[in-house]
Amino acid sequence: MDRTLAADLARLPELLDATRAAAADALATLDARPVVPPAVVPPAVVPPVGEPPAPEGLPEHGTGTDAALAAFRDRWEPRLSTSAGPRYLGFVTGGATPAALAGDWLTAVHDQNSNSALDGGGQDLERETVGWLRDLFGLSAAHSGTFVSGATMSNTTGLAIAREWLGERLGVSPAEDGAAALGPVRVLSGAPHSSIGKALSVLGLGRNSLVRVPTLPGREAVDPAALERALAERPGPAVVVANAGTVNTVDFDDLRAIEALRERHDFWLHTDAAFGAFAALSPEHAHLADGLDASDSVCVDLHKWLNVPYDSAVQFTRRRDLQARVFQNSAAYLGPLGEHPDLVHLTPENSHRMRALAAWFTLRAYGRQGHREIVERDIACARALGAAVQADPALTLLAPVRLNVVCFTLAEAPTPERLAALREAAAGEVFVTPTVHEGTAGLRAAFSNWRTTQADVRRAAKALGAAAREIA
Ligand SMILES: *Cc1c(COP(=O)(O)O)cnc(C)c1O
Repeated sequence: MDRTLAADLARLPELLDATRAAAADALATLDARPVVPPAVVPPAVVPPVGEPPAPEGLPEHGTGTDAALAAFRDRWEPRLSTSAGPRYLGFVTGGATPAALAGDWLTAVHDQNSNSALDGGGQDLERETVGWLRDLFGLSAAHSGTFVSGATMSNTTGLAIAREWLGERLGVSPAEDGAAALGPVRVLSGAPHSSIGKALSVLGLGRNSLVRVPTLPGREAVDPAALERALAERPGPAVVVANAGTVNTVDFDDLRAIEALRERHDFWLHTDAAFGAFAALSPEHAHLADGLDASDSVCVDLHKWLNVPYDSAVQFTRRRDLQARVFQNSAAYLGPLGEHPDLVHLTPENSHRMRALAAWFTLRAYGRQGHREIVERDIACARALGAAVQADPALTLLAPVRLNVVCFTLAEAPTPERLAALREAAAGEVFVTPTVHEGTAGLRAAFSNWRTTQADVRRAAKALGAAAREIA
């Protein structure tokens, strides 16, 4: 064994303690550090300030974990954002609850490849966790689920099953004969997330198979009458991607109205509920995601509002048989497909980390009510920031706050350049990301971190207001 490696092995408990101390320090200073350090605001938007560290060459001989930890803390940690903290409101970004963090650490400790019954109980743990998540989001036992790395992979997996369903309807198998066997495919959606186009590209259906259906006036929710017209335009099976929580205004398609169209039209219903599914945890908002269970496939992200570390999402489907047809990985040394296929036969990857453990930990530790409290507190924070934006003459709300996102802009001359300057001026205190809503450049503040409180909202509102005046 390499001498440094052997020395680390001899001191392993000590090294873990040192790492734990560094972790505790990083978490204790979340509130004090800049939310996004200036040098890492995307240079395409704002010219970088500060010098990035010069790249180091590959060490010929290492100096062990202690030295690596010191080098990381010195050179890289100061350049990381505090996206685990309470005022990182960009994209839709969760943190990691204490239990989720503990689960994630232990995932690496046990380093399981939980994809087959030939190994230990890893995949049973994943199945138990999927059952809890199904319950959390109000899905019936008809849905089976698998863990994947994020909502993009969840959408891709769902649409891969949809592709096989189209084949079943047409008497071919895209999994065996390729997507070309289907002929032209239509995927209908009102305001799909960008990852849908990426999924269609990967799946060989092509980005151009996506047909944009008009949304309701002033909304990002699909117009069900327009969807029906689009379905009627061409006979034959289609795929509908419903959106439960759009990223700009957190709008929800009327899932029950879409489902009702199945009486007259043949389509696979995939619902992208990446973070919108969490509306089910709040009795006041649960109606938004009503009807989710009718979907043939459902995408839910877990590294957003469940507050588990990256990278984690779940994919639910009612047609596990088709899923196995797409993803089966038959080999003599792997288990047979059978009625409960090993996970190796159900997702794009073969080997995968036991990523269910972080979700298992946080659900076991805080339960439905603990996670409901996080969701409801984040919604209340979004409402409060929405009210503060409305009360600030320098800012304008672009859409009502439906759930956990505030979409707003500058009251005067909301150009992308001025908005970028605003973001940069505020980035030490609060991080928000740009968007365009109905042709107007704007900003989004998304609340999904378990740490965020009303005190953070006050800090964020103050910083955004001050930045808006500073650039005026
Ligand atoms: C975040 C998001 C995605 C993509 O999620 P990743 O985890 O980044 O892959 C897809 N759909 C919606 C609605 C989202 O909010």
